[in-house]
Amino acid sequence: MSPTSGNQRIYLSPPHLDGREKELMLAAFDSNWITTMGPDVELFEQEMCRKLDVGHAVALSSGTAGLHLALLVLGVGPGDEVICSDLTFAATVNAVKYCGAHPVLIDADPSTWNMDPGLLEEELSARERAGRSMPRAILPVDLYGQCADYTAILAIAARYGIPVVEDAAEALGAEMGGTPAGGFGAMGVLSFNGNKIITTSGGGMLVSNEASFVARARHLATQAREPVVHYQHVEVGYNYRLSNILAAIGRGQLERLEEKVRKKREVNRYYREALGGLPGIEFMPEAPYGKSNCWLTAILVDADRFGVDREGIRLALERENIESRPVWKPMHLQPAYRDCRFRGTGAGERIFERGLCLPSGAQLRLTDLERIVGVIAGAGRPRS
Ligand SMILES: *Cc1c(COP(=O)(O)O)cnc(C)c1O
Repeated sequence: MSPTSGNQRIYLSPPHLDGREKELMLAAFDSNWITTMGPDVELFEQEMCRKLDVGHAVALSSGTAGLHLALLVLGVGPGDEVICSDLTFAATVNAVKYCGAHPVLIDADPSTWNMDPGLLEEELSARERAGRSMPRAILPVDLYGQCADYTAILAIAARYGIPVVEDAAEALGAEMGGTPAGGFGAMGVLSFNGNKIITTSGGGMLVSNEASFVARARHLATQAREPVVHYQHVEVGYNYRLSNILAAIGRGQLERLEEKVRKKREVNRYYREALGGLPGIEFMPEAPYGKSNCWLTAILVDADRFGVDREGIRLALERENIESRPVWKPMHLQPAYRDCRFRGTGAGERIFERGLCLPSGAQLRLTDLERIVGVIAGAGRPRS
């Protein structure tokens, strides 16, 4: 037995169900609405619209399904190109591939870790000068709960007449300039996967102020079934709707969103205060233009100054039964996406090599945080 076997495992971002989730789910169960339509699906969509101050929403089986549908709604098809954040989870670019289109990868801005607007502008102006075709859409990610710089990105996109889809899968509850994450661009996509800030175990939502976009996504998500009594299909559809039982869980989760954001920001502040003074440890910057939901707190480790690298810290935490995770590996370094066009400075790669995501659950107790911080501080070089 290891000396730490009595220590309960601390996970990166486990589900946190502390509201009316069970009550709402059992009510849905008892009502026999155990299908992909029902009152909870509609209420979940309406409640999300109110929370995000958007006009329309469709609940889906996953965030990835939402990204796929958003691109289809914009008419993205075989051979098209879609500009994406390079530093992201693979789901962002997978959705582009599902359309038969090609991702064009834009590197991260080191001051936000999100799509670098300067590089986006460079890519579009270079295309214009070369007479190259323009991308069909721009798909920025709100990394780890921080909005991309939409003031800059939306202005550039408007200048070139290219629609923006916001991958807000990690950012529900964040905001920028008073606009909630998910509300930027033509459409926004949320995820309710098990480790996201709110969860339905698996699920997602597409939101937009444009009614026709959401109506079209809803149609494609329900096997593109025409509104006639016999089953009539004019085009190929998908089975992408959220179950009513899961929507009931989502409603209970959504009621507690502000509290989860508050707790996650508190966790972030604790880490900054406890670790920020250590040599060689830096934090993912919080951009001055917005408020992150702090879905995951991420640090950068300078091995020369700290004494061990981020993998050394990760292994030290793992030995104490604490889960942590390297920052997403940039897509241009992934075998599946190596051949994509990439415009970058190496910023994302440097963040990946040094970056580590720390346990960030909203239910972390002070004793958990002390335990985590103690292991990290102890992993560094003893100061002489
Ligand atoms: C989680 C995530 C997704 C996909 O959401 P699922 O609900 O898991 O399909 C998409 N993009 C990003 C950036 C994510 O973190």
